[in-house]
Order: sequence, then structure tokens, then C-alpha cells
Amino acid sequence: MDPERIQFHEMGLDDRILKAVADLGWAQPTLIQEKAIPLALDGKDLLARARTGSGKTAAYAVPLIQQILTSKQTVREQAVRALVLVPTKELGQQVQAMIRQLTAYCARDVRVADISGKAEVSAQRPILMEKPDIVVGTPSRVQAHIKAQNLELHALEVLVIDEADLLFSFGFEADLKSLICNLPKIYQAFLMSATLSDDVQALKELVLHNPVTLKLQGSQLPDSSQLQQYSVKCEEEDKFLLIYTLLKLGLVRGKTLIFVSSLDRCYRLKLFLEQFSVPACVLNSELPVHSRCHIISQFNQGFYDYIIATDEQGLDKPTADSQSAKNKEKKKKKKKSKTGKDKEYGVSRGVDFQNIANVINFDFPTSVESYIHRVGRTARADNKGTALTFVSHSEVLLLEEVESALTGDSGNCALKPYGFRMEEIEGFRYRCRDAMRSVTKQAVKEARLKEIKQELLNSEKLKMYFEDNPRDLQLLRHDKDLHPAIIKPHMKNVPEYLIPSTLKSLVNPLLRRKKKLKTHPKGVMITPLKKNNRGKNPLKSFRYTRKASKQKNKS
Ligand code: AMP
Repeated sequence: MDPERIQFHEMGLDDRILKAVADLGWAQPTLIQEKAIPLALDGKDLLARARTGSGKTAAYAVPLIQQILTSKQTVREQAVRALVLVPTKELGQQVQAMIRQLTAYCARDVRVADISGKAEVSAQRPILMEKPDIVVGTPSRVQAHIKAQNLELHALEVLVIDEADLLFSFGFEADLKSLICNLPKIYQAFLMSATLSDDVQALKELVLHNPVTLKLQGSQLPDSSQLQQYSVKCEEEDKFLLIYTLLKLGLVRGKTLIFVSSLDRCYRLKLFLEQFSVPACVLNSELPVHSRCHIISQFNQGFYDYIIATDEQGLDKPTADSQSAKNKEKKKKKKKSKTGKDKEYGVSRGVDFQNIANVINFDFPTSVESYIHRVGRTARADNKGTALTFVSHSEVLLLEEVESALTGDSGNCALKPYGFRMEEIEGFRYRCRDAMRSVTKQAVKEARLKEIKQELLNSEKLKMYFEDNPRDLQLLRHDKDLHPAIIKPHMKNVPEYLIPSTLKSLVNPLLRRKKKLKTHPKGVMITPLKKNNRGKNPLKSFRYTRKASKQKNKS
């Protein structure tokens, strides 16, 4: 704990909030919370550049809850006092969950409702009739409720626009603007955004009054004492060889998010790993929202160690209910895919992946911004993390861009070369090639189809069943083999003699005993190989002895 920093109990917060914060185990405010909470409590409008993982939700939720508790001391009328606009259903759920945790001791006084979900507008009406103090929703859903006269905002005191830049990317601009016209004249507003794009600046003019802008250093990436960043140069085949080594030998410990450049590559990598009995989930924009949320929630609970994801558009598609929003979104997608820019959406944005120990960029991100968003999934709050980026020769220019962006005033670059000697793992190349050969284009196609079918079934037909039997839902796994590719049983094991001697001391002993690797909660990636000892390759260590030859002759 840093005594120089303002602590939660010094902010003049209600005891019930402080108790909830203590229950959450937060020793001190994050940088954004330290700056934003006192300013917000002072009544200021805020524009904060803050990424997911910086503690931004509590940075606005804490003052918002405090404001409601204070108001309720004088005003008796039950009304919607705060509106939180989010771009996606996933983020809506997370925001609601965070507010519920922070209001654990004042849940009767501060009620929150998330209406960003998929349910029919009419089905959500009863929730809004109770006039929850805080409403969380996507702009189009909120607008639909205003139109249907389910939502009345005359008593609004606080407006929060979370992930404002994403709201624009997802085509919510028009809904957002017409919604703002329905708000009372005076309210306090917080605008949170990972980037301060022109769209966000325009929105600032529209909703904020004399705002304080917070562009905190900490909203980029944590420093090297918390987040270690490495890059390793390797070409296509070597990428597979290296990931095999890192995962199969247990050199990467803890929950790991692996980014690739396309959905086909997600399945290619999944099927490749499947050949070695390394289970991994694919987070795919084509899967139903319900499946995606379930995968993320199980991943957060520690069911899986590895998620393979792309940052293709639409991965985190908003649950826009108005057709206009959907059309606009489609148009926007078309426009953006033509330019090939702005690919950073979905999993690396907005979603609260918890306790990610490692991010592996199997394919290089398409921009500096995308690199920061991907890598920012690890080392969140006070946790440590490691990011490893594979770089092929065609990606070197992008690497240079990222390196220069990550070079501080002192001239030190946070992204260091990963001292891994590829020649030491040559022994594995043959089996990796073998596995890669089995993962044909057809196998990838079939795997994609098979998973969509499976997940649709899970999502639709079984939804009702799982509502009645929630414990069975826990048993539903998303990292099962899809194996259209033939799996050779021997590939599951790593022959001892193929493990480089320099890695033997690092290799998880449990793995060698063929037991299941236990998740290490705050695992770190293990770095370089040191010496080049002679391994136990039987082909090399075999010695001709007289005794052996005599016995052979006798027989
Ligand atoms: P957010 O940026 O709001 O998505 O928060 C990222 C994660 O940080 C969430 O899982 C929070 O529970 C956690 N968090 C938020 N504030 C703190 C804090 N002051 N100390 C430790 N963890 C925090």
C-alpha cells in the first residue's frame, strides 16, 4: 500500500460503500479511482481516458452510489437517478455486477437494473416500473424504453457513458443523440473511453459541462514491475512449434489469452493443440451471445486455461434491438472491413477477463492501439502478468511501431526480446509438422460448423433446461475436442528425450507424471534457456558395450 496515495476511507464515502470495498479486498484505489472519485464527489463532470482493467467502473460507480445515498436522505420519491450507457450486453452485465457488489450493504437504498440484455422490451417493463435507482443499458434499448414510456428520466442526476468510443464504433451514435434530447437540463456526466477520438470529443461537447479531463499514464499499460512484455521472432511454422512447447511443457502457467488474426486461425490453432490433447476454447463472434458469455464466465471461474480469440469486428456484438442500429452497425462493419482499419473490437475490449496471467499474441496486432488493448487484458488491478508476442518477418514493421510507442522518456523500451533458443526445441518440429498436416482447411471448416451447431443447441434448446438446472450448466464445457482432424494417441505425451535438457528443470514435474496441470493463479511465463546440456535422447545416448554385444552373439 502506498501511503502517498489517497485511500478510500479518506474520500468521505458512506460506511456501507467502504465496507463493500473492503469485502472486495481492494487495498487502495487504482490511479483512475484516486483521481476521479474526489472530483466526481465534488460535482465535476469528467472525461476520463481509461481502459478496461484500470478500475474505471468503480471510478464512476462509487461516486454515483454515494450521490444516490446522499440524495435519498432528503428526497423521498423513488425515481431513476442514474443512467449508465454501455455498448454491449457483456459490459452491461459486468457493470451491474460491480454495482451490486459495491451496494451489497445498501441494496435496499440503491437498486440497479441492467436492461442491456436480449429479453423483449415488453418483458423488461416490470423491472423499470419499479424505478430502479440506476439503469444500465445500451443506447438503443434505453431509447426503446423511453419511446414505450417505460422509462422516465426527469429525476436523472448522473449520466455515465462507458466505453464511449465503442458506442460510436457500434453505430449507436444516432440513438445516443436522440436519447440525450430526452434528458433533463441539469445532470452530472461521466464519459469513459479507452481513446479520445474525434467522435468522443464531439460527444464531450454535447453532454459535458466544464469537464475535467483525466488522461492518466496508468490508462496505457502498467510498468515492467507489474507487466513483463516480450517479443520473439519466429515464422509461421515456428509459431506453432513455440506455442506447442510453451503450453505442452507447462512453461506458460495460469490463464492465458491467445490472440490470432482470424477466426479460421483460431480453429486452426485449436485443432493443432487438440492433436496434443491441449484443450482450448475459441471465443467466436459467430457463436450465440449466450455461449460467449458462458465461456467468459467459466474462464473467469477457472474452468479453462486457454482462450483463443481474434479481434475481428463484431466479436462483442451489441444487443441492439432496433433494426436501425443493426443496419447501421452492418454498414459500419462493411465500411471498416474495406479499409482494414480499426479491427480492435470484441474480446479485447470491454470484456472483463479476470486474472489473466498471460497474453500471447500468436499473430501480431494490427496497430499500436490494438497491441495495448490486447496486452492490457493481463496485469490488471494489482496483479502481475506477462505478454509474449510472436513476430514474423512481415510483422517486423508493426513491431517497430509498438516498440517506439512503448519507449519511455528514459529511452527504455518496455517490450524486450524473449531469449528463447528455437534450435533447442528442434526435436519437436517433426511432431508439430505432423499435427499441422492433419489440420487441413476442410478440418477447420468442419470444426467451425460443428461448434456453431453445438453452441446453438446449447444456447437455444437447452436454455430452458439450464434455467431449471443451473448446476448442469456448470458441467457444460466449451473446450471439448472438435476433432475433425485425426488424433494420434501418442501425440498426447511428450517423450522425455525430446525435452531440451535446459528446459527440464522448468518443465512442470506434474506434466511429466502425466497428471493434470493445476492452474497457477498468478502464474508467470518462464523465460530463457541457459545452458546447452546433452539431453537424454536415446538415439544420441546409446552406447555400444562389449557385454551387450557378447550376449547378442550368444543368442
Ligand atoms: P474495470 O477497469 O472496471 O473493468 O476493473 C477491472 C478489475 O479491477 C475488476 O475485476 C475490478 O474488480 C478490479 N478492481 C477495481 N478497482 C480495484 C481496486 N481498487 N483494487 C483492486 N482491484 C480493483
